[in-house]
Amino acid sequence: MIAALSNTSAEPYWMSAVDAAPACPALSADTRCDLAIVGGGFTGLWAALKAREQQPDARIVLLEAGRCGQEASGRTGGFCAPSISHGVSNALARHPGEAETLIRLGRQNLVDYQRDLEDYGIDAGFMLSGKLNVAATPWQVEGLQAMARNYERFGIECTLLSGAQLAEKLDSPAYVAGLFEPNYALIHPTRTVSELRRVCLAKGVEIFEHSPVTGISPAGADIVLETGQVRVTASRVMLATNAAMPLLKRLRAAFIPIYDYSLVTEPLSQAQWASIGWTGDHGIADSGNQFHYFRKTPDGRMLWAGYDAIYHYGSGREPANLQRSESFERLATRFAATFPSLAGVSFSHAWGGIIDTSARTTFFAGRAMGGRVAYAMGFTGQGVSASRFAALTMLDLLAHRDTERTRLRMPRRWPVPFPPEPLRSLAVQLAQKGLAQEDLTGRRPPFLRLLDAMGIGFAS
Ligand SMILES: Cc1cc2nc3c(=O)[nH]c(=O)nc-3n(C[C@H](O)[C@H](O)[C@H](O)COP(=O)(O)OP(=O)(O)OC[C@H]3O[C@@H](n4cnc5c(N)ncnc54)[C@H](O)[C@@H]3O)c2cc1C
Repeated sequence: MIAALSNTSAEPYWMSAVDAAPACPALSADTRCDLAIVGGGFTGLWAALKAREQQPDARIVLLEAGRCGQEASGRTGGFCAPSISHGVSNALARHPGEAETLIRLGRQNLVDYQRDLEDYGIDAGFMLSGKLNVAATPWQVEGLQAMARNYERFGIECTLLSGAQLAEKLDSPAYVAGLFEPNYALIHPTRTVSELRRVCLAKGVEIFEHSPVTGISPAGADIVLETGQVRVTASRVMLATNAAMPLLKRLRAAFIPIYDYSLVTEPLSQAQWASIGWTGDHGIADSGNQFHYFRKTPDGRMLWAGYDAIYHYGSGREPANLQRSESFERLATRFAATFPSLAGVSFSHAWGGIIDTSARTTFFAGRAMGGRVAYAMGFTGQGVSASRFAALTMLDLLAHRDTERTRLRMPRRWPVPFPPEPLRSLAVQLAQKGLAQEDLTGRRPPFLRLLDAMGIGFAS
């Protein structure tokens, strides 16, 4: 094992940095409510809060399998994008007919996200500190230039950087150019969860933790959720279960679980930060298909994550997959190559999380069981801010409201289903091989071009 990894905690840094509130009780008796929400991550918590705004007198129950924020929402990088479409270029490439609307709504969602935090007094560690996209190869530089042209077209502020200007934001021998976009935020993931949960409870949302839902079925005009020996009978249900095995069979091939891994360093000194030119609070991501995202923590550590995207045969979701020494070693090795001046820095935390990877890289939402159940999932690695938008979309769907959100084709379009095994693994392997090859050569292999033509994407 690499020495820098010899003393890491498997608990996500974000969870260790926040005192856990006492658990809410598990559901222990049959109950009835107007709205039941399954899942207590960002999507479920935003859904509960927004439902309370719209229905002040409704009985709202949220059921969480473990503790709120224990899955993706507590393991994320916390990059809070001004986008619901996995970025401007993705909207243009995959949803050209409504790209302009998607881009506008994504930007507005970030404004509204910040306003909600302020209105509710939610201390989410929200910082509108911008994002630096960095390029390592000539074709990645061209990619940033194309991104800048797209931004310009939509009036989105950004600056292309190289040389000394780049070194003022990040000084690494690995990167030759950058694109800085000031309108991009970071949040503290676990603080966001715990604050959303606190406000939901204060607003009378009933949260039951350690209450996994094992079945869903219609019963007359209602929906019945089973959890252990007890049942919740609800007029309406929202499913916010993200990468977990979906309760609705029809959703089971709509996305696959892909594991993404993170390291956090010991706190770095001012001199160490200065040695890599990173004196601001912006987040950073590089531009490969296999990409790193990295940011500072409030106590001066660096989160260094991404690159590997690991799929397990049969869409395996075993808890043991959350630790993967090969991925941690690859991260540590690539960290050392990216930041030679930080050689010798050790890592305090190493963890994994599951990304609900859909074949078109953005969330989808819909209705089931006669319109009494709504779902939203498939965020594909960009769900911090989109979860709020998805929650509002589910509420619109349940209320059968005709809104700009429900008129969007992107969430409604059914994601191309992943084939069953063994084809599924084969397709993932081929796509990943192609993406790695493109990173090395700058040329998109024929298999990926075929997928592009079919509207199928693969990203984490
Ligand atoms: C390592 C990692 C890094 C990421 N980085 C970023 C980033 O920087 N920026 C970004 O925008 N996105 C990022 N993402 C994606 C983002 O974190 C997710 O899209 C977002 O957190 C999804 O929120 P959610 O509430 O839908 O899902 P989750 O947080 O996964 O919550 C779903 C909840 O449902 C519960 N649940 C599931 N099934 C049941 C059931 N049957 N009964 C009861 N409860 C159930 C689970 O226990 C879980 O708590 C990242 C994801 C990962 C894994």
